[in-house]
Amino acid sequence: MTKSMGIIGYPLGHTLSPVFQQAALDHLGIDATFTAWPTPPEDLEDTIASWRDERFLAGCVTLPHKQAVMSLVDDVDETARLIGAVNWVVNRNGKLTGYNTDSPGFLRALRHKAGFDPAGKTAVLFGAGGAARAIVHGLRTGGVSKITIANRTISRARQLASDLSDGKFRPGATGLDRDELSNVVPYADLLVNATSMGMAGGEADSQSPVTAELVSADSLAYDAVYAPPMTPFLKEVERAGGSTAGGQSMLIYQGVEGFELATGSDAPVDVMFQAVADATRGS
Ligand code: NAP
Repeated sequence: MTKSMGIIGYPLGHTLSPVFQQAALDHLGIDATFTAWPTPPEDLEDTIASWRDERFLAGCVTLPHKQAVMSLVDDVDETARLIGAVNWVVNRNGKLTGYNTDSPGFLRALRHKAGFDPAGKTAVLFGAGGAARAIVHGLRTGGVSKITIANRTISRARQLASDLSDGKFRPGATGLDRDELSNVVPYADLLVNATSMGMAGGEADSQSPVTAELVSADSLAYDAVYAPPMTPFLKEVERAGGSTAGGQSMLIYQGVEGFELATGSDAPVDVMFQAVADATRGS
């Protein structure tokens, strides 16, 4: 019996998930298809109910459904509950469990593609939305020693800092003013952009949360934004002499984690990265 996997979102637009997930399924000889299903909010409940079918393995969930899906599954794992969002749903004998793989996906991308181990390091994270929540959780798991959350709306930064505080892990919160940033950015080992600044087609596509003057040449910058590959934020850090990595690796590793939950097999990571490289060559 051919099994089924897929991704839902609305609007779904162009998504790379079917490209690298199908490549992984085919490589391991798993008899399953991975499909993109644009799903408006009014169809979400019926769609999730249909995922209890024995042919359905797992589904990836993207905007705007990451919160709404939490009340439609039977169980939400600890990481997803803390972050407040589910981006994968796995079907086991008709029982649906929600997971968040953006957090471990970010950590694997940081370690394996950017070559950065956050243990004992200091970080500044720009943004306090969904991606930022997952990244703060990932950095907490990775043992970062100090983190400051910098966001346009400072109350959201404070809320995120409070939600994810745990024991000695106490994130700071600040706004995006140059004066405020000058207290933390020059001393950070890691800078992460998880705002929509720099995102192609967005209202702030030409903006960066920080300029080169504040950035240390010893810092590494990771941009969760993956289109375009070279963002204004990464350009500023390069101008300061720092190292940079774009968000495509986080996108693929959240899918690697989802694939492993869905199939119980180690994902063929190189095959998945190669599939994306082939699909995006020249773009
Ligand atoms: P979100 O929940 O809507 O949060 C948006 C964030 O951007 C908020 O912190 C918001 O600040 C900030 N922001 C938006 N416009 C701004 C502006 N003009 N100036 C300053 N700050 C601004 O979005 P999200 O889901 O977290 O996504 C954020 C980015 O991460 C997107 O570009 C998305 O594509 C990317 N992302 C990548 C991956 C990956 O796998 N690589 C995964 C998820 C998301 P306020 O709080 O002040 O509004």
